[in-house]
Amino acid sequence: MIGVNKIDMNRSEKAKWIGEVKPKNSGDHVIDPEKLSAPFGGNKSLSRFFCSGCGNMVEINNPTVKHLVAVMNLRTMPNVTGKYFQVGSCPNCGTSSTGGPFFTGVSLRDLPAVSGQ
Ligand SMILES: [Zn+2]
Repeated sequence: MIGVNKIDMNRSEKAKWIGEVKPKNSGDHVIDPEKLSAPFGGNKSLSRFFCSGCGNMVEINNPTVKHLVAVMNLRTMPNVTGKYFQVGSCPNCGTSSTGGPFFTGVSLRDLPAVSGQ
């Protein structure tokens, strides 16, 4: 019988062999409304982005908001109060080896309602 060794390596083991492995952009991450609507931790934070690709949720300040607005090709700065940016890929999972943008599929959305208090 010819055996095929399937080696199931975890991420850190893989990283030893092939270098650091980027988080997989599986594209199916679901947002957590409570985390998304939680008070900001940073005093310069204006909004958050949520990456549906890798599940990354990050508070963002004015320069990053402006960057995302530019990626969206908006001509004027939108009011981001009560809103968040959803992206399809982010610096955590996006590829820049081709010089392309980290952020893709950017949209500005209303914060989801959080039930309870
Ligand atoms: Zn991501």
